[in-house]
Amino acid sequence: MKRALNFNAGPAALPEQVLLKAQNEWLNIQNSGMSVMELSHRSAEYDQIHNKAIDSLKELLDIPENYEVLLLQGGASLQFSMIPMNLLKPGKKAEYVLTGSWSEKALKEAKKVGETFVAASSKEKKYTFIPNAKEIQIQDDAAYLHITSNNTIYGTQWKEFPETGEVPLIADMSSDILSKKIDISKFGLIYAGAQKNLGPSGITVVIIRKDLISSDDKLPSMLNYATHAKSNSLYNTPPTLAIYLLSLVLDWAKEQGGIDKIAEINEEKALTIYDVIDQSGGFYKGHAEPGSRSYMNVTFNLQDEAAEKQFLQEAKEAGFVGLGGHRSIGGCRASIYNAVPLSHCRELAGFMKKFQASYTGKPAAAVK
Ligand SMILES: *Cc1c(COP(=O)(O)O)cnc(C)c1O
Repeated sequence: MKRALNFNAGPAALPEQVLLKAQNEWLNIQNSGMSVMELSHRSAEYDQIHNKAIDSLKELLDIPENYEVLLLQGGASLQFSMIPMNLLKPGKKAEYVLTGSWSEKALKEAKKVGETFVAASSKEKKYTFIPNAKEIQIQDDAAYLHITSNNTIYGTQWKEFPETGEVPLIADMSSDILSKKIDISKFGLIYAGAQKNLGPSGITVVIIRKDLISSDDKLPSMLNYATHAKSNSLYNTPPTLAIYLLSLVLDWAKEQGGIDKIAEINEEKALTIYDVIDQSGGFYKGHAEPGSRSYMNVTFNLQDEAAEKQFLQEAKEAGFVGLGGHRSIGGCRASIYNAVPLSHCRELAGFMKKFQASYTGKPAAAVK
């Protein structure tokens, strides 16, 4: 069997070792005579898996003591609502930086809860760049500032985060968590759906500074961070299979050498593809401005629509999966999360060069 050259945007590629390990333990985990899905979520066996996932996140991301790590359901999309429900108090405004469709969706939900303010936006320029962190205005009555650290659809990524002083900085890191080192202490809350960089869908990681968890119990229990913090994310039945797979992905990340090593490889992967775009003489055109380019989602167009259509067709025939851009913007996108190996990025770069040569009729050597 040949594994696909998987560039899916999410759910996305998982490390092969993780899948093999899970296969190996499928019928019998920890000598229980049961699969992980058949264990009680109150059993000692499951407890160990659950706590290991949380401890591994703390270790890999270097999460300080004054933060709580929660494993929740409802995807990153439910956080769009939970964040304002828990943190936007009357008299305050929730501030959003708009850098793409996901930030727009986050803002849309916050508007249903209370007052909002758009602190900066790159919408006018088709979300091709990230606003300068230094130019973002924080109002005196800000409840928090929300950013999307990596814009999965447009292929842009924050390189430097805004300084928000006393105002909590909140980041949707669904598509770049664990891809590079970040200083967690700069953030009030970080959240990420797991299905891009952490594991399968069905689990959302929330890292929240403890002082932001309030005991306000007017909220529905399931939507209150305090409920989950108090019960170690075991208030109700968690998605045990997804959390088990998350723990295996985190083991794998440690085996890779941790976050610094992963970041180094991610940079090399991204530059392998961006170099082809930059050296193509305009045959391939990157969507993002160079200073805002994402190392997780490489978005590009071809010189014209006919070339693009043929490129996607031939790429598919050559075994590449998931290279079509998001349905909302079209074009092409290569999602190269942690689990996508460098060798696959090199294969894609080679394919892009060969395609340009054959499409334009120039010998491959002339295409640098
Ligand atoms: C995929 C994605 C989401 C949506 O995640 P769900 O888990 O499907 O709700 C939100 N934000 C970003 C940045 C994403 O990439």
